[in-house]
Amino acid sequence: MESTVSPLESFLREYLDKTGGVWDEVEPQVYDVALPAGTELPTGRGSDSGVVRLTFDPEALPEHPSAQLASFGTPLVDRLLSDALQRGRAGQFCIVGLNLQPHDLLTRLRRSIHVAPATIKIERVRALHFPQVVFWFQAAFVSDQKEQIILPVAVDLHSGREVRHAEELLNPARLAEHPSPPLPPAQALSLTSGYRLARAQILRSVTALANNRGRELTERCDIQIGRLERYYADLRAELQEQKRRARNADEATARHAERMVALEREQQVRAAELRKKSILHVDLRLLQLMRIEQPKLLVQVALTAENHAAGRLAVVWDPLMEAVEAVSCPLCGKPSYDFTLSRFGQVGCEACKPTLTSGKPPRR
Ligand SMILES: [Zn+2]
Repeated sequence: MESTVSPLESFLREYLDKTGGVWDEVEPQVYDVALPAGTELPTGRGSDSGVVRLTFDPEALPEHPSAQLASFGTPLVDRLLSDALQRGRAGQFCIVGLNLQPHDLLTRLRRSIHVAPATIKIERVRALHFPQVVFWFQAAFVSDQKEQIILPVAVDLHSGREVRHAEELLNPARLAEHPSPPLPPAQALSLTSGYRLARAQILRSVTALANNRGRELTERCDIQIGRLERYYADLRAELQEQKRRARNADEATARHAERMVALEREQQVRAAELRKKSILHVDLRLLQLMRIEQPKLLVQVALTAENHAAGRLAVVWDPLMEAVEAVSCPLCGKPSYDFTLSRFGQVGCEACKPTLTSGKPPRR
């Protein structure tokens, strides 16, 4: 059986395999490594031939004095990790292997979407590539400690809405570099607009996280300042006691006043230090993004009812989730499954219903 390989070791192997480097496992956790052309080593040690000996095991170092220790935080590993991040900063994949001919699409549509009082009929079905983008943000919360977290958010560039099933999108079993079958693109927002939506979403999450951490910091700081106040109150009481017991009253009074002022100053400095440490700084940046083209069906449906002009809706069938997506209301743009058809053939969601029945032209 093969010995277990640490995540860092498997990262090194994969990084070298993908970037054109070479690795040879000399013994468990000890490697001879040739980095890809153009990658410079942060230290010159042992790199005359372009081959570096690395070990993931500190105890192997005495046996391999020329080896560099590879662990998180060492310059070499930091370098490889940041290079890997740079290379993978923006990726693009296609989802393949989806069923684009769902069984009884009309029944599924009629079960999901309701348009009173109309009947839904399929006019046209087109398979198109719908772009969705997963953004990974890194938030760093810095006070007297530093904490970093990675927050992913996925945005559908067609609907302009957040995608809740990012994990499904990222399932490697369905991702390919090239589309199959090749399909025309669906109408979509630009990547920049998608980024703005993702950032707004992330800002909401980060603000909530920062508020929690800020509250904890303030509480901790208040406790520490309380302790500090009690400590200095005790010191002052002690000084008072010393003064009371002193034989030479004048001298004691002068020295007492001096020490009281010094104590006061010390307490203020230490309290200010505590408050400064409890200020929270938040740093947010985009680490990576992946654009995923997914085949979906764009279905034009006709809505007909007696004594009503015919209406239309564009509905999206998602073969990955095997579900009808919520439809953006033609009037207000909000996603919904419940609509009303007006006598003039206008379609609107529940919120837009008053505008429809009054027969006035729609608000824009
Ligand atoms: Zn609406």
